[in-house]
Amino acid sequence: MQTVFSGLSPLVIEDVADEGERIVVRARTPLNTAVCLVYGASSERVHGYHWRTVADVPVDERRVVVRVRVRRLVCPTRGCRHTFREQVPGVLDRYQRRTTRLMGLAGSVRLGVVAASR
Ligand SMILES: [Zn+2]
Repeated sequence: MQTVFSGLSPLVIEDVADEGERIVVRARTPLNTAVCLVYGASSERVHGYHWRTVADVPVDERRVVVRVRVRRLVCPTRGCRHTFREQVPGVLDRYQRRTTRLMGLAGSVRLGVVAASR
């Protein structure tokens, strides 16, 4: 699993479920990615969680779905109190429904290469 999902290495993989036609990876962000966009202050004060679901590179021609738990945090800066979601550069670029790695493979014929490298 470490090799197959190495493209997700910025994430902490918590579970991998084989559902037959697809593989569902459950992951969360590491604990050091959150910075308020207003003042640049980092925060560890959790306001809530939400899930993002994206497609990753197929394995053995099966779809891979990655469900990532992303934190929403509250800025600790006095007077700001801005809430913001974590970003995971290189894995979950903003507003994309697919991982960056899959976008890089789009249009190529290399979709079996990840499984072959195990
Ligand atoms: Zn702030």
